[in-house]
Amino acid sequence: MLKWFSADLHIHTVLSPCAELDMGPINIVEAAEKLDMDIIGITDHNSAANVAAVMERADQRGLVVIGGIEVQTREEVHVLCLFPGLEQLSAYAAYIRSRLPKVPNQPEVFGDQVVVNGEEEILYFEETLLLSSVMASLEEVVARAVAWGGLVIPAHIDRPSFSVLSNLGFIPPQLPVAALEIAWPERISDILSRYPSLAQYCLVSFSDAHTLSQLERGFCTYFYLQEPTFIEIKRAFAGEGGRRVVIERAAKVN
Ligand SMILES: [Zn+2]
Ligand SMILES: [Zn+2]
Repeated sequence: MLKWFSADLHIHTVLSPCAELDMGPINIVEAAEKLDMDIIGITDHNSAANVAAVMERADQRGLVVIGGIEVQTREEVHVLCLFPGLEQLSAYAAYIRSRLPKVPNQPEVFGDQVVVNGEEEILYFEETLLLSSVMASLEEVVARAVAWGGLVIPAHIDRPSFSVLSNLGFIPPQLPVAALEIAWPERISDILSRYPSLAQYCLVSFSDAHTLSQLERGFCTYFYLQEPTFIEIKRAFAGEGGRRVVIERAAKVN
């Protein structure tokens, strides 16, 4: 039997230098529970080092976590790459690491990049700046993610920077994307009238939260699934067996 599950698959942690220091596993899981979220995705910039910690915390509470990375490609396009498990995610994270320029972070300018465990204890500070573009094209980044069983979602395509539409002007037609993320779902009809070809894609909207307050939004993406798993989400993007994805006003906003 299919049921609706609410999901926010684009959340940053304290590892992203631009995120607030209260974005640790305990706070994120607690906030997701307060908002009645069923599934969350952890997607820091160019790294997955805090995914396991959030999973550890969430597992104790029955919240489903999908691990991923928000990659910044050579074209300065942000893409969410989500994976079925930690094994595939780790392999892909190692590839992204190998393409990340060895530029040191400047915490006083960009913020700290903190790697934590499930109890929010600091394990170490990531010293390579995660806000650089990786030395790989959008096409390569996407192909590698798909090869590792990943789902690729170009991020905030309607934003004026770091998006596929702002930087390339179009969605490359052969790009194997599962869905497109819209930052401002309230303007969805404007976006579709400007870019009618987007109607052929599955559209989603996530918080891209860098602070706890950003997790609370007026809209949410709901998945109609048998169970809250990666494989079911993949089937929903493909519209298999009655599974669906819709953007709706959030059921609960505090
Ligand atoms: Zn982004
Ligand atoms: Zn983001």
